[in-house]
Amino acid sequence: MERVRIEIRGIVQGVGFRPFIHRLVAERGLNGYIKNTSSGVELELEGPEAALERFLEELPRRAPALAVIESVETRRLDGLAGYQGFEIRRSRTDPLRDTLISPDICVCEDCLRELRDPADRRYRYPFINCTNCGPRFTIIKDVPYDRAKTSMEAFPMCPDCSREYHDIENRRYHAQPDCCPDCGPRVFYLDGQGREQPGDAIERARALLKSGGILAVKGLGGIHLACSCESGETARLLRQRKQRDEKPFALMCRDAAAARELCLVSPAEEKLLTSRQRPIVLLKKRRPGWEAFSENGRIGVMLPYTPLHVLLMGEDLPQLVMTSANLSDLPILTQNKEAVERLRGIADGFLLHDRDIQTRCDDSLCWELDGEAYFARRSRGYVPYPVQVPGCRGGILACGAEQKASFCLSRGEHVFPSQHIGDLKNLETLEHYEQQIRHFERLFDIRPELLACDLHPDYLSTAYALRRGEEEGLPVIQVQHHHAHMAACMADNGLQGPVIGLIWDGTGLGPDGTAWGGECLVGDYERFERFASLRPLRLIGGDKAVWEPERTAWFLLQDAGCDTGAVENGALYEAVLRSGLNCPVSTGMGRLFDGVSALLGIKRRCSYEGQGAILLEAAAGESGEAYPFTLDGEPLRFDWRPMVRALTADRARGVPAGLCAAKFMNTLIEMAAACCLAASRATGIQDVVLSGGSFQNMYLMERLPGALRARGLRPWHHRRVSANDEGISLGQLMVAQARAKGEETHVPCGTPEINRG
Ligand code: ZN
Ligand code: ZN
Ligand code: FE
Repeated sequence: MERVRIEIRGIVQGVGFRPFIHRLVAERGLNGYIKNTSSGVELELEGPEAALERFLEELPRRAPALAVIESVETRRLDGLAGYQGFEIRRSRTDPLRDTLISPDICVCEDCLRELRDPADRRYRYPFINCTNCGPRFTIIKDVPYDRAKTSMEAFPMCPDCSREYHDIENRRYHAQPDCCPDCGPRVFYLDGQGREQPGDAIERARALLKSGGILAVKGLGGIHLACSCESGETARLLRQRKQRDEKPFALMCRDAAAARELCLVSPAEEKLLTSRQRPIVLLKKRRPGWEAFSENGRIGVMLPYTPLHVLLMGEDLPQLVMTSANLSDLPILTQNKEAVERLRGIADGFLLHDRDIQTRCDDSLCWELDGEAYFARRSRGYVPYPVQVPGCRGGILACGAEQKASFCLSRGEHVFPSQHIGDLKNLETLEHYEQQIRHFERLFDIRPELLACDLHPDYLSTAYALRRGEEEGLPVIQVQHHHAHMAACMADNGLQGPVIGLIWDGTGLGPDGTAWGGECLVGDYERFERFASLRPLRLIGGDKAVWEPERTAWFLLQDAGCDTGAVENGALYEAVLRSGLNCPVSTGMGRLFDGVSALLGIKRRCSYEGQGAILLEAAAGESGEAYPFTLDGEPLRFDWRPMVRALTADRARGVPAGLCAAKFMNTLIEMAAACCLAASRATGIQDVVLSGGSFQNMYLMERLPGALRARGLRPWHHRRVSANDEGISLGQLMVAQARAKGEETHVPCGTPEINRG
């Protein structure tokens, strides 16, 4: 006989963990108790050694679906306590402030079975859920997490639901959002004018979709616009009404088989699609086409994640367009009234319900890489799950970047990255951002003592941090954009550094006041230096060059000494460059992509940022060849002029654009490998972190790590936060923490020398 104390940390409260332990203990014939603590649960068990071992072995394997076990610590205790039976003890401390909150999880198999069972009391009830599934983060107003502090407070439980809720053997034991047709929310259907229509709401919505209409449907974290995929016509109509010219639409497919009709789905991608987080997965099109949904080589596909979606698709709507209901990059709509007002003229009908969305949360968006999600947007299904950073100190708020805003808050070793927020330049998005920061602070009981933000004075997130710093008397540490990218990827992989940081994105302010973005850095959390970068480009007309890449194409030709005669507005660009006005210098990799995309005739004008690069990737053919380049100077410069000359010659010889696109990206891979190898030789460092929006290019991500490994380097990519600016806040937080530790006073930004070798 033995007695042990077990401490379990992670998401172990409000996910059916104690009943699960209760069952496991009963099976093994053990005695003891369990109680919630401030960081998880604690239990003491007594019994034969073999039974205890079996228990510990089965614990992680059989844990409830929503539980996330971060650690299990077991300690043998002296002597026996003589426990009789197993007891769920009330905790004396207030444990709820320090616990983790589960993300929203897709409807589970058990609930689906009941949903389809005519004999079940929740037959076809669109809000069916249990301890293992359903809404969490999006309905929580405050902690402690119980029904009264969620959007379910408006729906008192009926006696049947209450009985389930209190029965430890029941799947709905302590499931806060539990409800049924007698006591829970109801779904209703409104016509395009916002008038409620009688009859079966879901059947009416289905009829609208089948007749080619556009439906607004309320999901977990926001409202979507849906339409049939039967013909591209409806999608084109939706695009027109939504004024969304070229950005791809996501699709919702009934199941993996329905996704396979349009896309190639590998086993690893299927695993992601069917995971309980249900992200949108960017899948390769089965064949070219479907431009009405997506103009590039991939389509974003998700499977239904709420019972309402399941009922909406039924048996005969295998694929639907499912795009966020918002106008021109404003936040996704969440409120019924607002939706009806704002979507007038866009939606032909509304499938809504009376359970409020408390917290806006967009669908997550990712690729599959190495069997895991590689995020473009980390949001529903993942947030507010923390990133664990050993040795991290709490009380830091990092305010993120601007266009793909997010923030991070730390509480001990847990860093909580926010959901996708969007572009702060919209007033409504900025309000959402500020409101979410306060919401997270309350939810996780974090009072920031230190603020971190970007170096860029014009970012609204920087303005927010500086204002709060002043108002609350808190220190603010400004972190260089690409240093933050590097630190984010380090933290993402648990690296302490020093590392080589290959950081490629569109733009970020450098300490020298110019725009950076094609950088090879060397450093750690505290400091960095610029080891190499792109030969600078000039952005003809400043920001205009982002939307009109032909400007950059002209500059590339001109700078490389090629004939610019074929460029339409060449004379104008020449005059602008000569004047020297509004031609800022940039080393942004995104700009080089844009420029080459325009050179190849792939995209001359963009309607959204990064479009040129995305279409260039999509156009790429198969080629093992690369163009010439040089790498020299101090710091090293990647000189792309030989490449531009060779590429231009290729085009003149009639080499297809797709082949040139592949050769261009192969050149970047060769250059990156040569550059990192040089950095490694100079410093003895082997770890290379890859971060920045340009690493959302799967052509690069499928080839670059191999090229680095072939040179004896260790590449690391993002796993838990996005490589784009959404991941920046995590890096800012890490840098701020390291600097605060190094020196308690304000540390000026710059490029301090680090020890080489
Ligand atoms: Zn369930
Ligand atoms: Zn009920
Ligand atoms: Fe960036």
